[in-house]
Amino acid sequence: ASDIHRITSGQVITDLVSVVKELVENSIDAGSNKIDITYSNYGLDLIEVTDDGRGIDPADFELVCLKHHTSKLSDFKQLSEIGVSTLGFRGEAMSSLCSIASSVIVTTCTPKQYPRATQLEYNHMGVLKNKKVVVGGLKGTNVKITKMFDNLPVRKKNLIKNLKKEFHKSVNFLMNYLIIYPNIRFTIFNTNSQGRKHLLMGTKGGPKTTILDNLISVYGTNGAYGLVPLDIEMNLKFSGYISNSSFGLGRSSSDRQFLFVNQRPITMKKYLKTINEVYRSFNHIQNPVIVLNIELDYKYLDVNVTPDKRIVMIHNEELINEVLRNELINFYQKQIT
Ligand code: ADP
Ligand code: MG
Repeated sequence: ASDIHRITSGQVITDLVSVVKELVENSIDAGSNKIDITYSNYGLDLIEVTDDGRGIDPADFELVCLKHHTSKLSDFKQLSEIGVSTLGFRGEAMSSLCSIASSVIVTTCTPKQYPRATQLEYNHMGVLKNKKVVVGGLKGTNVKITKMFDNLPVRKKNLIKNLKKEFHKSVNFLMNYLIIYPNIRFTIFNTNSQGRKHLLMGTKGGPKTTILDNLISVYGTNGAYGLVPLDIEMNLKFSGYISNSSFGLGRSSSDRQFLFVNQRPITMKKYLKTINEVYRSFNHIQNPVIVLNIELDYKYLDVNVTPDKRIVMIHNEELINEVLRNELINFYQKQIT
């Protein structure tokens, strides 16, 4: 059973990106205002995420890491609407993390339990094996994933070999959340092998923070260079930022292109291709910086396509692509005239 668990889990947690993705999404789903991500030794030794969210109810302590346990679906009918407020709903991530990590330790405190947090330790099968009360001022949840892939030698070897690359890939993926959730204050740290903690990146967070502020926090003042607000609304809404018709960053910005559907990071090559084509028809050679959030009614969406939910199915995908193309062309034409 343990092996089967490991194999099926492997589809959710395939690399460092998926570890931080799942932890951060859980923190966002918990309604957090502040999320800290700490890598130790680029994630090889430890990945730790701390939030100030609603915490885990003591009634769920035994269940959290069991396969298919989720607190986010009370009724199957909700499946079609889910995603409006939660990124997760399959109850697979915590269970999968248990199967690939040396240890999974969750410390959590609901407002009701405060100031008595509980530290929970789960085994490879996601079974709660240790529980103790700790007092330390935590309001929310802290999850520690130690020594990922220690029991999967091939993946471990691969991770060690490509550690810096994998680390940067995962930090870059986190940029999605740092940019699109202005209300949340994110901080990313790495602790080196000497135990010294370095700040890598952070956003301010709060009700007055905007996506543009976040781009500046992440990329410095040039993060705002040549960007204009994008705001197109009909049955669906396109919003975010895009390079203006004349500037961009003076180079291809293919590394600064972020697409979301209802604030969920998505992979949609077709839409990116459209954006780049339109932009290049005005700007000749470059790809623009883009942060594009497509707001759609959930009835047009199926987010349940891949385990990591980055590939979503949009009904009328082609139609939306054409709407996007036309609207962007209009948008840039208006800018020029
Ligand atoms: P899902 O996110 O699909 O519900 P997960 O396996 O990621 O499933 O998490 C299982 C459950 O653990 C969640 O439904 C939630 O109840 C709880 N949980 C995990 N992380 C947190 C967190 N940071 N804050 C509050 N609850 C959490
Ligand atoms: Mg989750």
